Amino acid sequence: MISSLTQPTFEPKLEMNVVGDNARSGPSHFQGDRSQPLIETTIGEALDDVADRHRDRIALVVRHQSVRWTYRDLAYHVDSLAAGLWRAGLRPGDRIGIWAPNCAEWTVTQYAAAKLGLVLVNLNPAYQTAEIKYALTKVGCKALVFARSFKESHYLDMLRSLAPEIGQSFSGELRAAAMRLLICTAPEREEGITRFQDIRDDGRVALHDGFSEWPDKLDPSDPINIQFTSGTTGPPKAATLSHRGLLNNAWFTGEICGTSHQDAICVPLPLFHIFGMLTGNLLAMLRGAKIVHPGDAFDADSVLSAVEEEQCTSLYGVPTMFLSELASLDARRRNLSSLRTGIIAGAVVPMELLRRVTSEMNMAGVVNGYGMTETSSAIMVTSPTDTPERRVSSVGRVVPHIEVKIVDSSGMTVQIGEAGEIHTRGYSTMLGYWDDPDTTAKVIDPEGWVRTGDIGVFDEHGYGRIVGRIKEMVIRGGENISCGEIEDFLLLHPAVENAQVVGVPDDKYGEELCACIKLKPGANVNKDELREFCRGKIAHLKIPRYVRFVNEFPLTASGKVQKFILARSSARDLGLIGPDS
Ligand code: AMP
Repeated sequence: MISSLTQPTFEPKLEMNVVGDNARSGPSHFQGDRSQPLIETTIGEALDDVADRHRDRIALVVRHQSVRWTYRDLAYHVDSLAAGLWRAGLRPGDRIGIWAPNCAEWTVTQYAAAKLGLVLVNLNPAYQTAEIKYALTKVGCKALVFARSFKESHYLDMLRSLAPEIGQSFSGELRAAAMRLLICTAPEREEGITRFQDIRDDGRVALHDGFSEWPDKLDPSDPINIQFTSGTTGPPKAATLSHRGLLNNAWFTGEICGTSHQDAICVPLPLFHIFGMLTGNLLAMLRGAKIVHPGDAFDADSVLSAVEEEQCTSLYGVPTMFLSELASLDARRRNLSSLRTGIIAGAVVPMELLRRVTSEMNMAGVVNGYGMTETSSAIMVTSPTDTPERRVSSVGRVVPHIEVKIVDSSGMTVQIGEAGEIHTRGYSTMLGYWDDPDTTAKVIDPEGWVRTGDIGVFDEHGYGRIVGRIKEMVIRGGENISCGEIEDFLLLHPAVENAQVVGVPDDKYGEELCACIKLKPGANVNKDELREFCRGKIAHLKIPRYVRFVNEFPLTASGKVQKFILARSSARDLGLIGPDS
């Protein structure tokens, strides 16, 4: 059916094809390889095809739920839920939210929605009442799959508070959100709530009786997913993504990593974030690989146990996750001999971290990926075949079918070697922010270029480096200082587990540098020793004026450090702003 996925040309290979292997000078504008065509199919069709070819291979392991499904099992769960959702009245284009930590039901809902042409709305498990109300209302969810509770969040209570008469009718706040169907993954029966298992069982019976009401052919360019962007730098926006964008981005990232059905990929990332849902779940599925979810939320020890016991070949994560895993490895050695590769992405990846992951976690083929939700994930990725130096010092080259240019503040493309804002365009650009043309127009220009807000630089071979975010540059006395470079250096200190540098207000220089340091367990170093460590090795102006020791960093639910919160709390702790600022 989807012949493109079975063509030999799509067999995984390690070579990364990026136009322009020869060194060149001139404008900082590179294009990814186009020798393989884009795949024009839908995610539902892709799952059917893969499940058919890999039916007895393990598709999904969810350790905290003791789930271990083959591709045949996965396809059956997906079809059952899809048939049940159809019978419950959902139709292509309807929005269905998912508000749960990582669990098997998440993955089943992801694919069932895609099969029916529903728009899956990923909701952050950390959302509280006001945020969930905003999200559901903003995109008009008609159905919501949710966990009963997670950690301190009691989702059911929160939903009840939004719709007081939930048992009789969906009035109140949820009515405004067009909500018709609340589906809880818990086994308990609750008035006004439909159980996930009942929808699935109803679909199962329907399938058994020959259910054949699948929607007519869906279009790969249809909207299929809405993700609220992570909010490390501001309020979340509802990026709307298509089958084509998601599926091809996952496919080509897998191509670069050389992922095949022989791989077992450990994904501790939250599924609501594009890294977990696309680069994790979808990429593995397209390749017929085994996906392993080590727990409902990140825990370094559980991740390492999952890698050992499931013989994972690949491990994904954001930098903070790898830092915790390395700290856990320091405390207890593990056998990670099955690992060969993985992806670190989502935030600036310090060189020292990449070196340590390569050598101490047995991940010689680890790649660094740069991307964002608005571009359906990857924009640039290193390749396992790149030289070790390039793999630690760059985010690689532009991925297939994507274009990237670096521009100055007037929008002119700069020369290779010069830094500027990264602009990108291609098939994977979001369709827009849901129901928000004004904000969309601020991010995507009339020629389709996405303004990333990230500052980068290309070398003459088309390898990119991210040197900061426009909002994360500290401007000290007129001098632009990239925090990532200093963080990279501080990580070289043997006592430092994680370092995050932010700007705090200063009367003389406008901003001063403040390094927030998390020490390794049992390690000891004082502020002056840390500054002394920097002296003579990094420019004087880059030596942080302030050093703070912290136990934890404020993180988004996807594990990224929320620098704007850290900057504010640092300024407050240092007495540079008032306690209520
Ligand atoms: P999100 O949309 O939540 O995935 O966030 C995207 C942002 O994460 C990008 O605009 C970058 O600022 C940052 N980011 C992602 N990957 C990398 C990377 N490999 N290096 C540096 N920053 C990254």
